[in-house]
Amino acid sequence: MKIRLRLAEALQTTLDPEELLNIFYAEIQQLLPIDGLSYHHDIADVNIHVADHAEHLFSYNLVTSKELLGELKISRSTPFLAKELDFLNSHLDVIVYPLRNALNYRDAVNASMRDPLTGAGNRIALTNALHHEIEITKRYNQPMAVLMLDMDNFKYINDMFGHSQGDDVLISVVETMIEDVRTSDAVFRYGGEEFVILLNNTTLERATFIAERLRSKIEALTLEEDGLRIITTSSIGIAMMEPDETISRLLMRADKAMYQAKESGRNQVRVAT
Ligand code: GH3
Ligand code: MG
Ligand code: MG
Repeated sequence: MKIRLRLAEALQTTLDPEELLNIFYAEIQQLLPIDGLSYHHDIADVNIHVADHAEHLFSYNLVTSKELLGELKISRSTPFLAKELDFLNSHLDVIVYPLRNALNYRDAVNASMRDPLTGAGNRIALTNALHHEIEITKRYNQPMAVLMLDMDNFKYINDMFGHSQGDDVLISVVETMIEDVRTSDAVFRYGGEEFVILLNNTTLERATFIAERLRSKIEALTLEEDGLRIITTSSIGIAMMEPDETISRLLMRADKAMYQAKESGRNQVRVAT
């Protein structure tokens, strides 16, 4: 009983799944020598590797009263004794509820940072990411680019094809953006049909290339409704972060550049001065 209590106490100290498994590893290690530890939860798409696996593997399915919570794998270079397997079988469940709480907490935090329609980051996430990126950019003296993208004539798309079709267009546009910059962490919904993409460690030349490629991919989207092609184009403004620039000024410059693209006839990329 004492062992369970100590384990449970140690596991109460964090809501971070990785940290939780690291604590678990350290605690188990004090009771029974093990080498490898990993945790996999296919449905939740979680794979946490704590320590490299060795030859003799013991696998344990984690379950709550309501759900399967993935699989814990423990391994060792020397075989487990029957007594040791009994010990594992009767103690590993202490991690079930702390782990479920940590995964639920992570889901809640993620959901609060995302736009529910498109899955892009929301404005809270954008502000957080900008603060973080600005620190990194300063510390390592790297260039950072911000793209401000606004869909062209979106009101027309809604009027012509309906609001729900408009929603589908936004979903496709975000998919295109994420695919283009190869990470969902850099794409944010700034307003209705306006998006921000953060490109860290990216020069103006590279940012211009990416923006142009994205503009052309959005133009090439082949969405249709009742046999009518939905024309999707976007206007993009680029601003490079300047030393000691505030977030609002940086976004404002990107926005201005985007409006210049609109004024020049839409479906274009412009760079902020
Ligand atoms: P411009 O080329 O100047 O940007 O023209 P626009 O029609 O895109 O500009 P405007 O900002 O006047 O209109 C944006 C439209 O986007 C109006 C609004 O109804 C629509 N919109 C905003 N958010 C959503 C959404 O979540 N779903 C849909 N379907 N439409 C949206
Ligand atoms: Mg627009
Ligand atoms: Mg707009």
